[in-house]
This record gives sequence, structure tokens and C-alpha cells, in this order.
Amino acid sequence: MWRGLDERQTSAAGAGYLAAGYRGRDLMRADDGSRPALASGYAQIRKCRIGGFWTGVALAKRGLVDGRFRRECPCCGERHRETLFHLLVRCNVWQAARERFLGGALASVREIVGGPITGAAGDAAVVLLLGGKAEGRRVPMWAPRQRRAPEAGVVGGAPGAVSGSDDSSSDEDVNLGGGPQDASASGEAVCCSVAAFFVRMMRARAPIIRGLRSVWADAQAAPLPP
Ligand SMILES: [Zn+2]
Repeated sequence: MWRGLDERQTSAAGAGYLAAGYRGRDLMRADDGSRPALASGYAQIRKCRIGGFWTGVALAKRGLVDGRFRRECPCCGERHRETLFHLLVRCNVWQAARERFLGGALASVREIVGGPITGAAGDAAVVLLLGGKAEGRRVPMWAPRQRRAPEAGVVGGAPGAVSGSDDSSSDEDVNLGGGPQDASASGEAVCCSVAAFFVRMMRARAPIIRGLRSVWADAQAAPLPP
């Protein structure tokens, strides 16, 4: 795989990570090994959070695909930059997966940003989908509830307590509208569906990107015309 971020990118991503209010323990709790099919999806969420996901724009800037992909999405081919916003919210290639896995989360996002997801609301939408905070709120039920200690037995008090006492968001349920097949209908954290979206999307996107990279590499290696 591709490795490394340049320093500028890393420090910008670090500042962004803090500003976005991501909580690493949320993902650790979600990705506890009980859903191995989602592990690669969680890995992508982690990459997105630190600015390490190779969007079409990033690939083009690094010269790994044709320069036109600075302005053009490699998947839908339209003149939209493939940013995380485009990928998660807009690209029509992923519409079916988006409806299936992100429908409920996007409804929460719209409610939080108070309208259509465009402009600055687009950045907020990405942060919210990745489990961060915007407008002082998070997508309800993004992370799994705190697991009770196994030896604790029946814990008195608050069986439904959500970890992260800084959460002021309400506990309203998010309808995930057909998440992953093995998802239990109720109590499934939103991050499972976001991870499932990434798994589904990356499975189809990887060959597209590989194809573009090899075409590009071949073109670079071709002898110059006389
Ligand atoms: Zn697209």
C-alpha cells in the first residue's frame, strides 16, 4: 500500500483531528474483533480521520494517477474533485451503498447542520460521519455503547449509559434503514454502518484506482515519440 504523509499534511491533519473532536476509544470499542468483516472499514475511517485516505485528488497530487483527477472524480468521471465529501455524500457511483448504509447517519447530519449538505456544511458532514463533532453535536449513537465489565454482572444504575459524558446529544435512535445484513435492527451503532459503507465502496473502488494507476504508469514508462 501507499505509505506516508508529508509533514505539512500530517500537522494539518493533526490539528484537524483535534478540532473535529474524534475519540479514538469509540473506534477501539467498535472494532473489537467481533465483526471482522468490518475491520477494513474501520481502518478506512481511521485513515480519513488523520488525512491519510488517498482520495483521487491526493493520488493526482502525488503523481500516482493522471493530473486530471485533481479536478475530476476517478469513479463517476464527472468534473468534481474526489474529496471525502464527494465520496461520502455526493458521488453517484456510491449512491446505492450510501442509501443502504449511510441513510440514517445522513438524516442526522442534515438535522445537525440544519439544511442541505453543501458548502461549509459539507466539511461538517464529513466530520460527523467519521464520528466527530460539528455545531457542538455528534451523530447520535455513532459509537457503540460502553460494554459492561463481564464480571460486573447486572450493573445497577444506568444500563443504557453511553460513554463520553461530554455528549450533550440526545439519545434518539437513528434509523439505519437496512444496515449490514447481520446488524441487529436495534442498538446498532452508526459507525458499523459507516464501516460497512467503506467496505462496500472500497471493494469496488480499489480496482478502478488500480486500473488508473497502471495506465498512468505505463504512459510514464512509454518511450518518448521521436
Ligand atoms: Zn464521483
